[in-house]
Amino acid sequence: MRKLRIYNNKSGKIEDFESIKPGKVDMYVCGPTVYNYAHIGNARPIVVFDTLRRVLEADGYQVEYISNVTDVDDKIIQKARSEGVAETTITSRYLAAYLKLREELKTLQLAAMPQVTANMAGIIAFIAKLLENGYAYESAGDVYFRVNKIDDYGAYSRQNLADLEVGARVEENTKKENPLDFALWKKTEQGIKWESPFGPGRPGWHTECVVMIDNHFHNKIDIHGGGLDLRFPHHENEIAQAKAAFNHDIANYWIYNGMIAVSLATDESVCHTVLVVVWTTTLYSIFTVITIP
Ligand SMILES: [Zn+2]
Repeated sequence: MRKLRIYNNKSGKIEDFESIKPGKVDMYVCGPTVYNYAHIGNARPIVVFDTLRRVLEADGYQVEYISNVTDVDDKIIQKARSEGVAETTITSRYLAAYLKLREELKTLQLAAMPQVTANMAGIIAFIAKLLENGYAYESAGDVYFRVNKIDDYGAYSRQNLADLEVGARVEENTKKENPLDFALWKKTEQGIKWESPFGPGRPGWHTECVVMIDNHFHNKIDIHGGGLDLRFPHHENEIAQAKAAFNHDIANYWIYNGMIAVSLATDESVCHTVLVVVWTTTLYSIFTVITIP
């Protein structure tokens, strides 16, 4: 079997890739929030991680690749209100467009695409478990994760906690014990909501991936991917919750696609050039992520 060398954000180094199970790779990539049509930046992770999967398969691995769909979110609720329709009208419209885009980009089929709305019972049970073991607390209808129960919170994304606390205090939420605590469950005044032991509401964004990975793989996985902007707080918070609930840090390799920066151009030929550059940089990013000896 050929040896892949890959940049691992967890260590900050290029490493030889070793799967947990021989010949098998379990991989999860944080998927889209379906509240609008995908832009070119949303296409990048689709291409980058599909390519990574193909490289692993060409190396002889069987790859089980899943990616979630966030279909509960403030932006979805706002969009539904602005159009005067149900949230499901919004999410089904943009999920269909996203699936069509994946097809147009000729990606391979995912093993699963779990949606938040279809996993609510598991998400609520997971939050209840964190409350039970003291890693979470209820406050005025919300539930928060207690970050100072995690010894090395911030270490994964190499954050300076003192700086973060200063930043978090600017938008201080008096319902929290610590400004860095993050919401697991939000009491909901408007928009779609679910009944739960903590009151009616909906989950915070950072919990769904941890629950979906555990539902599908039941254990630590090989690769967790996403856009670079997810490193903090999203992935730091995923790791904190997994440590609290399962006593592991979700994945051995954390891989990111970079962001695309495009300056708006009105001239058609300039636009065309910009798109060529964007696709070239996307391809370039694939080859900087993956080094094959
Ligand atoms: Zn995620």
